[in-house]
Amino acid sequence: MEEEDKENQEQLRFFPLPIDAAYCLKCKQGFDPLYETRKLYYLQDCLHMFCKKCLAKQMNGTFLKKMGNIQCMECSLPMHECDYKKIMGDKRFEKLSQEVIRLMFKIVIC
Ligand SMILES: [Zn+2]
Ligand SMILES: [Zn+2]
Repeated sequence: MEEEDKENQEQLRFFPLPIDAAYCLKCKQGFDPLYETRKLYYLQDCLHMFCKKCLAKQMNGTFLKKMGNIQCMECSLPMHECDYKKIMGDKRFEKLSQEVIRLMFKIVIC
């Protein structure tokens, strides 16, 4: 319990947004700003907030189609490498990046 509190406080320090803004812009699900901040994610550049479920779904569904250039669902600003890594995990990101390179290579040859 104490561990969890510490972690939540840290996240709030990193993301100083109004407390009532704790909901996903995509699915509109609300989250308790004190206890559920780990389920939410702020994009690096625009600070738009989505739940990790929606982001993971978007990334897994479109990463290859978009050649690794996914944009924010709210403002269309491109996401960062660290956004992908935080949501998908380093390994999955590396794997998908390799896939993208392979796809690009194929296009060059054709
Ligand atoms: Zn969501
Ligand atoms: Zn945005």
